[in-house]
Amino acid sequence: MTRQHEITTPEELQEDTPAELSLRPQRLAEFIGQEKVKETLSIAIEAARKRREPLDHLLFHGPPGLGKTTLAALLAREMGVNIKTTSGPVLEKPADLVGILTNQREGDILFIDEIHRLRPIIEEFLYPAMEDYRIEIRLSDGPKAQTMTMNIERFTLVGATTRFGLLTAPMRARFGIVQRLNFYPFKDLAVIIRRSAEILGVEATKDGADELAQRARGTPRVANRLLRRVRDYAEVRADGVIDKDVAQAALSLLDVDEYGLDEMDGRILKTIIEKFSGGPVGLNSLAVALGEDASTLEEVYEPFLIQEGFLMRTTRGREATPRAFKRFGFAPPDSDAGSQSSLFEK
Ligand code: ADP
Repeated sequence: MTRQHEITTPEELQEDTPAELSLRPQRLAEFIGQEKVKETLSIAIEAARKRREPLDHLLFHGPPGLGKTTLAALLAREMGVNIKTTSGPVLEKPADLVGILTNQREGDILFIDEIHRLRPIIEEFLYPAMEDYRIEIRLSDGPKAQTMTMNIERFTLVGATTRFGLLTAPMRARFGIVQRLNFYPFKDLAVIIRRSAEILGVEATKDGADELAQRARGTPRVANRLLRRVRDYAEVRADGVIDKDVAQAALSLLDVDEYGLDEMDGRILKTIIEKFSGGPVGLNSLAVALGEDASTLEEVYEPFLIQEGFLMRTTRGREATPRAFKRFGFAPPDSDAGSQSSLFEK
């Protein structure tokens, strides 16, 4: 088996396959789209470099797969500093961070993914570290435990979260720069797909790339995933070139429809329509009906369905929109709304 070797990336980020790594933009200039975010970052980088200071603590938020981790890694490269990566749920006690924080050099980056899932004791421990570059180390256990204060080098904390609303207010307040990543427009995704195709050495026609971009849920990670699957199809069933027909055939085999909805999206919307009469239905009841984790539904699936107008989040729960009814061939619930409103008009 051949395995692609990575020589450009200093350290592998968890969960990254080699192919995924090679597709990650290495420099800010290679990062496609999100112009406002890029401009804010390039100003911050230039200012920090001029002052010879570390970057301010930075927070990225937005749905998964939009480039938060990629941005953290390329900030380190642009600043010429080291980056250490961890994530909220894996940090159990302050001691888990002591080694990293005391070994960092000035300006180094600590990247914490899923930062909304930090335990309170870790948050408390991070506040003085972020603010005064000071950490408290407990020398023993128990109520009379002795603590020692230690100074650390000035570092930059980069946090990423899919759930900005779950971040505590004191944590939020400690970030100098907060940037939201939004779903990518079609034209940016088309560029991302063409770039990835080139890196993977697969030929895609403009129409072929556009077809994938159209169905990539506004998300670069999905775009790259579709590209890899369609490449397989093109190699096995066609002459290796991804054109429009090949893309369409492969995507229908993958159950990805023309809007980018996949099998799971279909199950979510059809469950709301069929089992809950279109809603409103509470998130937890919906999750139970689907056998899926509520937070996965909320963080991974819902943002795109909401943005595309298939789903609404109301105070009473989730509702399928008329667009969703139509997509799955059901009559919209308010198809008689016209006659009703005419009743009220009298
Ligand atoms: P997040 O951390 O927000 O979940 P990632 O940074 O892991 O997302 O990005 C997922 C993948 O999408 C990356 O491997 C990268 O190849 C690709 N990607 C993300 N943003 C861009 C972009 N702006 N341009 C090109 N590729 C991107």
